[in-house]
Amino acid sequence: MTFGMVILGRQGSGKGTQAVHIAEQYEVIHISTGDMLRAAVKEGTELGIQAKGLMDAGELVPDSVINGIVQERLQKEDVSRSGFLLDGYPRTVGQAIELRNLANDDLKLAINLEVSIEEVTERMISRGREDDTEEAIARRLELYEAETAPLLEWFTEEGILCRIDGLGSETEVYARIVEAIEDKIL
Ligand code: AMP
Repeated sequence: MTFGMVILGRQGSGKGTQAVHIAEQYEVIHISTGDMLRAAVKEGTELGIQAKGLMDAGELVPDSVINGIVQERLQKEDVSRSGFLLDGYPRTVGQAIELRNLANDDLKLAINLEVSIEEVTERMISRGREDDTEEAIARRLELYEAETAPLLEWFTEEGILCRIDGLGSETEVYARIVEAIEDKIL
C-alpha cells in the first residue's frame, strides 16, 4: 500500500534527519522543499535566483511558487508508485489546502515533531548552515508561530495529526515516530 505523510516541526526540530530514516524504512519518496530550493539556488535557475533573497532573510517563498513545485513533484511516477513524505511543506494554511487537493486520500498522517523554541534556537546556532544567521533564525521562528502553527489545528480537524515529543536521542525520537506510523497507517 502506498501512503503520503507530512512531517512538521520548527526549523531545527530534527525533522529533516528523521524524514531520511522514515523514507528509508518505509520506501516512500522524501520531498524536502528546502532541499529543492537550495538545489535551485546552487544551479542558478530562475526559481533559485528568485528564492535566494527570501531564504537568506528567513522569509517564506510565496505559496503560488512553492505549490507549483510541489504539484510538479507529486505528479512524478516514483511518487504514485511509492508514496511520499513531505518535509518543510506545507508551511501555511494555503499550502495545506493545496496539498489536500493534490494528494486526496493518499495523505494519511501529519507528524508534528515538538521541540521548544529555546532548544531549536540552540540547535540551529550550532549547525551553522549558510542561511542560519541570527536574524534569519529569529524571523523563521516568528513566521513558524504565525503561519505554520495554525496548521496544527487544520491537521487536527482533518483527523490526521500526531504530536511527537522531539526531545531525546535520534533513535528515541525515531522509535516514537515508527510507533505512530504503525499505529495510524499500517
Ligand atoms: P528549510 O530547509 O525547510 O528550513 O527551508 C529553507 C528555506 O526555504 C525557508 O526558510 C524558506 O525560505 C524556504 N522554504 C522551504 N519550504 C518552504 C515552503 N513550504 N514555503 C515557503 N518557503 C519555503
